[in-house]
Amino acid sequence: CGIIGVLGSHEVAPLLVESLKRLEYRGYDSAGIATVNDGRLDRRRAVGKLVNLSDLLVHEPLLGKSGIGHTRWATHGAATTHNAHPHRSGPVAVVHNGIIENFRELRAELAEAGIHPETDTDTETVALLTRLHMDRGLPPREAAVAALRQLEGAFALLWLFDGEPDLMVAARRGSPLAIGYGAGEMYVGSDAIALAPMTDQITYLDEGDYAFITRAGAEIFDAEGRRANRDRQQIDTGAVT
Ligand code: GLU
Repeated sequence: CGIIGVLGSHEVAPLLVESLKRLEYRGYDSAGIATVNDGRLDRRRAVGKLVNLSDLLVHEPLLGKSGIGHTRWATHGAATTHNAHPHRSGPVAVVHNGIIENFRELRAELAEAGIHPETDTDTETVALLTRLHMDRGLPPREAAVAALRQLEGAFALLWLFDGEPDLMVAARRGSPLAIGYGAGEMYVGSDAIALAPMTDQITYLDEGDYAFITRAGAEIFDAEGRRANRDRQQIDTGAVT
């Protein structure tokens, strides 16, 4: 239901939880974050209020300067820790707002490749597909885009990869997604409110856009895969903080 991503210059877990708090107004039943630390992808998830995730992180900290986070409003699969985002398959972690309408068809395709879901969610399908494309030789960016092209529905997606501390892939179809610009840092959020404490420099993805985000900036592409220029706006953080 709420998405946040940070390629930062400091420990990112507290920032992710703080931003998720700002997205609480949307409602949620569980929450989670994933980070890349020393190149290694790891995640923590908890059912219920964000304080449960914060408590978990006290006992099982998640280090790293790159990370993604999510508050979930379950549509497919019960509100359990197991079904909470980020979803992971091998080197791929994904957070997702919305619904992947054709996930049953995609599961059937995955089954033919010998890949079976471990959760009840539509979202996990995206992680499994992306991993399959990577197993078949595509680099992370291209694998995410290949998976994206197989998806039907209305959604916002954000990917993070093992071994890639300077990369997030974002996609918007039907659900809004904003990219935020910082000094040597980059952010992604469901809305400007989530990003307001970090930056007032925002680019909203257009319908169908996807983006490759590194600390150096964002490369944005339209639905046809053409490089796209989207306006950067200075938002009034006073109005949204
Ligand atoms: N359809 C996904 C799920 O049920 C995402 C729901 C959301 O937008 O939070 O896990």
